Order: sequence, then C-alpha cells, then structure tokens
Amino acid sequence: YYAKSTRTPAQVYTPRADVNSAARLALVSDLRWALLNEEFRLQYQPKVSIVEGRVTSLEALIRWHDPVRGVVGPDTFIPVAEQVGLISDLTDWVLATSLRQCRAWQDQGSYVSVAVNVSPPTLHDTDFVQGVRRHLELAGIPPHRLTLEITEGAVMRDPAHALRVLHDLRALGVRLSIDDLGAGQSSLTYLRQLPVDEVKIDKSFVMGMSEVADDDAIVCALVNLVHTLRLAVVAEGVEDERTWQRLRQIGCDTAQGYWLSRPLDPELVPGWLGAPHRYIDLLASERGRRR
Ligand code: C2E
Ligand code: MG
Ligand code: MG
Ligand code: MG
Repeated sequence: YYAKSTRTPAQVYTPRADVNSAARLALVSDLRWALLNEEFRLQYQPKVSIVEGRVTSLEALIRWHDPVRGVVGPDTFIPVAEQVGLISDLTDWVLATSLRQCRAWQDQGSYVSVAVNVSPPTLHDTDFVQGVRRHLELAGIPPHRLTLEITEGAVMRDPAHALRVLHDLRALGVRLSIDDLGAGQSSLTYLRQLPVDEVKIDKSFVMGMSEVADDDAIVCALVNLVHTLRLAVVAEGVEDERTWQRLRQIGCDTAQGYWLSRPLDPELVPGWLGAPHRYIDLLASERGRRR
C-alpha cells in the first residue's frame, strides 16, 4: 500500500524549473520591448456557420514578428506574458487593433464580427470591462459584433468573481465563448451556470475524428452536451471535408479550421470573404439533391 508513495520520482528536469534561465529572461525583456516597438501582428481565422455557410466571425490570433527569432506563435509567448504581468497590455493592444480593423472592414462594406482571446488573468483585472467598453466606443463597433473567447481555466480560479465579470460583459452586450472545451479542467457545474453564447470544442478531438472512432464519439457527445445547455457549438480544427460533413450530420452549428481557411493576414480578408468557397458548393449541391 505504501510502496506507491515511496516511489515518487526524483527531481526530473523540466523547463518550468528553469523559470529564471537566461533564455527566458531575454524573452521577457524582448516581449516588453516588442510591445513598445509594435512588433505584434494579428491574423484572422473565419468561423463558418455549417448550416448557412455564412461567416459568423473572424478570430484574431496574435503573432510576434521578432527581428531575430522570426515569426513566433502565441503558444510560445502568451504563457510567459501571463506569468510576468504583460498580458493585460497585450490584450489591450489586441482589442484596440482588432476592433479598429473591424471598423476598417465595415467602412469597406463588410459587416463582419471579430473574436478576441482573453487569458484567465485578464478576466480578473479590475478595469477589464471598462476597457472593452472604451475600445468598442473608440472603434464605433456595436458590442454584439465582438466575441470574447475565454478558457474554462479563467472561471475555475475564482468562480464567484469570474461570474460577476462575465455578467457585466454580457450586460455590455458582447458575445461570450468558452474556448477549448475538453482540453482543460472542465466543470459541468460551472459550464451550466456561465452566461455564455457559444462553446468551442478543442481541436485535439476534432482533428482526429475522421480516423479515430473515440474522437468522433467524444465530439458527438460534446455537441449534444452543449446543445443540452442551449448554447451554440463550434468545432475548431476542421482539416478536411469528411470532418465538415460529419459535423453537419451531427448538428454542430459552426466550424473553424484549415480546411475552411488558415488564419489570414488582414489585407487578405475582404478578398477571402468575396471569393467562392468549397463549403458553399457542398451546401448548394446538397440542396440541389434534396429538390
Ligand atoms: P485557440 O484560441 O484555441 O486558437 C486555435 C488555434 O488552433 C490557433 O493557433 C489556430 O491557428 C489553430 N488552428 C486553427 N485551425 C486549425 C486546424 O485546422 N488545424 C490545426 N492543427 N490548428 C488549427 P495559434 O494561432 O497558434 O494560437 C494558439 C493559442 O494561442 C490560441 O488557441 C489562444 O489560446 C492563444 N492566443 C492566440 N492569440 C491570442 C491573443 O491575442 N490573446 C490571447 N490571450 N491568447 C491568444
Ligand atoms: Mg480561441
Ligand atoms: Mg480553441
Ligand atoms: Mg487553444
């Protein structure tokens, strides 16, 4: 019985143990500089309604164009920015930039919506809700055209406070989305009481669903679960036509993934929105067959 506890592994090296390594300290100081020096860029990835073929919103995804490292993806620097207190400034920049971009598209005749990822610590900033309101007003974008994507982890940290913030954001009129369902610590208790509009199933299940029967079964179960809560469900990581068709068959509302579009540079978005798309042809041929 006690054998288990005496077999606790000896100290194993992990990158986390190395939080003050020279490389990491350099990364932190470069990130601070990058903010001042405007080295960040946003790409936008469409979410597409599976029933109507309509683009429901464009998710802003941050990239860092570092002069030495090249293009750095968010998985490398967002966790660090969260740990060293840079994430609020970064989120502020993302909100300002994506809403300004949304306004520019609107001025060109495209009334699209944008979605912004919000890290767990940001939700707990005292002035976050005011900041969102201010950015919407500055850009002249109505609140319902902004979706905030929040992971479940944001809620678990301090559920009572997170719930108040979510209700305030809801009262402001922005749409709320729970990101990466299935990837973190999920709690059905919280999911049930969150004032949100949509839930996104993590791509780790969606990407494999046309090959792995278990993944297909999990996605089906999650779609049903989210619908039971009377929320809209988005599948991220749709990489092929089979997955799109299967999601359509099981009643998933919205899809996002490389098969529909990679994240796009902002100047490519109007052209993409106006171009013909494979999924539109599929929907049209299906309607034709039914007639
Ligand atoms: P996320 O919000 O869950 O975004 C989905 C990620 O999956 C994105 O990676 C996207 O490029 C990628 N993806 C989309 N479709 C496919 C597909 O079909 N196949 C595969 N393999 N991947 C796909 P990305 O851009 O590297 O972002 C990673 C994560 O970084 C995001 O996950 C989000 O949590 C975070 N992130 C990105 N931008 C921001 C931001 O502005 N602020 C904050 N706080 N977090 C951000
Ligand atoms: Mg997201
Ligand atoms: Mg996600
Ligand atoms: Mg993710």
